[in-house]
Amino acid sequence: MSESALYNTYARIPLSFERGDGSWLIQEDGTRYLDFAAGIAVNSLGHAHPHMVAALVGQAGRLWHISNLYEIPGQDRLGRRLCDASFADKAFFTNSGAEALECAIKTARRYHYAKGDENRFRIITFEGAFHGRTLATIAAGGQKKYFEGFGPKVEGFDQVAFGDLKATEAAITPETAAILVEPVQGEGGIRVMPNETLRALRELCDKHGILLLLDEVQSGIGRTGRFFAHEWSGITPDVVAVAKGIGGGFPMGVCLATEEAASGMIPGVHGTTFGGNPLAMAVGNAVLDIVLEDGFMDKVARKGLLLKQKLAALADTYPQVVEEVRGNGLMLGFKCKPVNLQVMGALRDEKLLAVPAGDNVVRLLPPLTVSEEEIDEAIARMDNAFKTISENSSQGD
Ligand SMILES: *Cc1c(COP(=O)(O)O)cnc(C)c1O
Repeated sequence: MSESALYNTYARIPLSFERGDGSWLIQEDGTRYLDFAAGIAVNSLGHAHPHMVAALVGQAGRLWHISNLYEIPGQDRLGRRLCDASFADKAFFTNSGAEALECAIKTARRYHYAKGDENRFRIITFEGAFHGRTLATIAAGGQKKYFEGFGPKVEGFDQVAFGDLKATEAAITPETAAILVEPVQGEGGIRVMPNETLRALRELCDKHGILLLLDEVQSGIGRTGRFFAHEWSGITPDVVAVAKGIGGGFPMGVCLATEEAASGMIPGVHGTTFGGNPLAMAVGNAVLDIVLEDGFMDKVARKGLLLKQKLAALADTYPQVVEEVRGNGLMLGFKCKPVNLQVMGALRDEKLLAVPAGDNVVRLLPPLTVSEEEIDEAIARMDNAFKTISENSSQGD
């Protein structure tokens, strides 16, 4: 008999926490960690935000779940608010990011099907992408470590090099339905798709009559200092998948689309039991109460710039630790010289939590409510960690 009753799919860090408070996670013995992981960009308003707690507890005493057999006023309200704050006309609520992506992929395929072009089902994605762990989204992400051993890859995904416009256009065939792209790759290593590339992808989609799908599961809901990261480029997407930050810790996601893009999604073709239930909607609406407040996202952008500047100064001081600083707003990261997991360990020794990513990157994803003092504190802890790493590596020389 193995020791744990759980699947062995996670290499967990041996740390546990009893409670959270804003940007802090607290252990049973009172030890406090500064949380610049935020549950992988999920705890957008930090831990135990009073407005979120009140929304959840208030709803919990009234109604949890009724299914989508009935009307759910909180869904109408949250859908309307998301659409009013974005490019979108239509919303479909899910429980996770991968399901929001599944809905985006199905929306694109149905769009062409409904127009009588059912052969258009293929979707172009970019190297380094991460779109989730369902069978379709591991095929979309195209990373062998995620799809190997899970049988035939779901058909219909073509991958090109990161941001390679020539390769993208060359990959478009009469079977292509859409291009799917993260404006900022998260798991891929905080790789920002340049604004001019996003604009060129929009033009390519228009030229070939295909849809532009964005994966903003990590970059959306204020994370980069705009409601959606694509807003920095000025483009209008056709479909956007959202999750992580929208629930602030409650599992939920949403697929947003223009009326035109969603035109094939007619009654009966798609559905979910849990998606958009009253509990999730109460929490999602509470997140928007704060994120859509006047000036909130400007503050995120300002704090992001502050953190990035201070990080860049640390990179100058410790070139043997930090190779490059990347990202926008509070979706930041740095590429490491040593193995990123070693750097993560040194940060943990200073009681600072971060998230590893591809391309040997460490991600910094604090709650959007992080204070400037907490940013200074994180920088001081990174300074200590980088000093320790530098001293140890020079001793080894
Ligand atoms: C986390 C993530 C997903 C998958 O979301 P899940 O909720 O884990 O299914 C998809 N795309 C991006 C960009 C993500 O960061």
